[in-house]
Amino acid sequence: MTMNDKLQIKTCPTCGSEKIRRVVRDITRKYKGQTYLIPKVVFYDCPDYGEKVYDHEAMLKIKAHSPAYHKAEALVEA
Ligand SMILES: [Zn+2]
Repeated sequence: MTMNDKLQIKTCPTCGSEKIRRVVRDITRKYKGQTYLIPKVVFYDCPDYGEKVYDHEAMLKIKAHSPAYHKAEALVEA
């Protein structure tokens, strides 16, 4: 095993499936009824139960795009 600062997931932490895959996708989240898009998020997708596992970096990116963290900009509608 090599040391790596990136989280390496080989099996799903929830169901133990080895089919879990690292994917890069645009994802949408909802905040207070408002849907927002986070482009090109790297996360792990488990096909068995449709679980999605986000590592620290992905969580930071999601937070960075969240309206909750951009209250001053929340009034701006696309
Ligand atoms: Zn799973």
